[in-house]
Amino acid sequence: SIPVITIDGPTASGKGTLAAAVAARLGWHQLDSGMLYRATALAAMRQGVDAGDEAALARVASSLQLRFDGERVLLEGADVATELRFEAVGAMASKIAALPAVRSALNALQLSFRKLPGLVADGRDMGTVIFPAAPLKVFLTASPAQRAERRHKQLISKGISASIADLWADLEARDARDKNRSVAPLKPAEDALLLDNSGLTIDQSVDRVLAWWAE
Ligand code: C5P
Repeated sequence: SIPVITIDGPTASGKGTLAAAVAARLGWHQLDSGMLYRATALAAMRQGVDAGDEAALARVASSLQLRFDGERVLLEGADVATELRFEAVGAMASKIAALPAVRSALNALQLSFRKLPGLVADGRDMGTVIFPAAPLKVFLTASPAQRAERRHKQLISKGISASIADLWADLEARDARDKNRSVAPLKPAEDALLLDNSGLTIDQSVDRVLAWWAE
């Protein structure tokens, strides 16, 4: 069967960077599942769909016209890679991700990313819900200070200013929402291997995951 490595963890733990690097080293496909929630949020905002209208949001999710092309993310044919990273889109994504109908509307799309020679999937519930039979599940953590610091650097590099205190508060709010929701709450799968990357370089984290995969 087609192998899958799942990488789950909280906001700004470095999942995306790690997943991309592991996928590149193995020559596998990658699924950044947060992008699907962000794209649903962006499409809903554009269509003027209310953040509380679960049925309408689920329809947006199940009719998402999304294509990944290298660095580009095409929503209905137009590149929205930059917009998907906006804080407002992330905040809306975090809210709609708590709605069961939205989550199940994205199930089939997520499963379709599993193709030969393999898939590295990152998110919050890749190991617990979407790919429960994955042979390697990683749960990535980093200290809140480290995560706020990373998010800060990321924004600065894009010319966006934000206070560390505000970013910290935002991370905590998102984590709380992800952990406490009734459906697919953020938590390690029972058979997940924990990786705290606080003191590690990206290369060291990648090597750790590849060593686990080779075991
Ligand atoms: O990972 P990222 O920050 O891009 O994801 C955006 C939001 O989507 C998160 O705040 C989280 O609430 C939600 N999400 C989720 N399940 C996933 C991936 C993301 O609930 N598998």
